[in-house]
Amino acid sequence: MDKNPQNLVFAIDIGGTYTKIGLVNQEGDVLDSRKFNTDAKQPYSQFIKKLSDEIQILVTPFKKKYTIHAIGIGAPNASYISGKMISPPNFRWGESVIIKDNIQNLLKLPAYITNDANAAALGELYYGAGKAMTNFIVLTLGTGLGSGIINESKLIYGQYGMAGELGHVNVYPEGRQCNCGLKGCLETYASVTGIKRTVFELLSDNNSDSLLRSYSYDQLDGKTISEAAHKGDELALKAFDKTAKILGRKMADSVAHLEPEAFILSGGLSHAGDLFIQPLKNYMEAALFKAYKNKVKIILSKATSSDSILGPAALAW
Ligand SMILES: [Zn+2]
Repeated sequence: MDKNPQNLVFAIDIGGTYTKIGLVNQEGDVLDSRKFNTDAKQPYSQFIKKLSDEIQILVTPFKKKYTIHAIGIGAPNASYISGKMISPPNFRWGESVIIKDNIQNLLKLPAYITNDANAAALGELYYGAGKAMTNFIVLTLGTGLGSGIINESKLIYGQYGMAGELGHVNVYPEGRQCNCGLKGCLETYASVTGIKRTVFELLSDNNSDSLLRSYSYDQLDGKTISEAAHKGDELALKAFDKTAKILGRKMADSVAHLEPEAFILSGGLSHAGDLFIQPLKNYMEAALFKAYKNKVKIILSKATSSDSILGPAALAW
């Protein structure tokens, strides 16, 4: 398709808290966008009704002058192949919802869906840090750990559309309970939630002073832990070091499988910057097979949360 500025796609990013929708051209310019509460604890039918209303408001002024070609959707636990969201944690929408078909019917346009981290990887490939690369892995280190793998400039979907769930590779067989039902998954350690759990473990195992002692579990967030670490709080620094050790080793495993040029990191945990990235690099390097050493980059994504519709847009294009 030529890069006619009148050609648009409709992009939807469904998150546990907010859903963002937008119209995006092929250059990655967002012509207009809207954001509303997903209300993931309410029935699914209510979400579809709300989405339908929001779509009308967004699309109507563009109908005359522009052509919308396709829909791209990024959603938790979504399969590219089946078009379903399958029991996403934090949503009370039942076992599975045929979300791709439902949204396709709202707009009467072809729709494409993938999980949010895969969409983020496509966003990096088309519009972000991955533009000049053909092999890289995106890790989104937020509430959980999401991942998207780009190999030979293509997203790896796997046989059933669920490839690359690095958040659920095992770190310790009898480790922390994960939302997925398994124990010891990587995301129970290497995510904002994971580092919070580590902080509380360290607090109970040590008597040392720490800026983090006065916080309750619900109060504590990634930003507070990283601020404490930047102020030199030893316990906070230890928590980052432990997290980096676990994630770095598993990244080395991924290098053996895929030999990426880089890992692109995003999400709350990555915002700690060098304090986290430097030990992460060291631990990854220490665990790498000789042939891979000193080659794999660790880069921070430049995408902000308002860019989250660019991934689904890239999928639609
Ligand atoms: Zn898990």
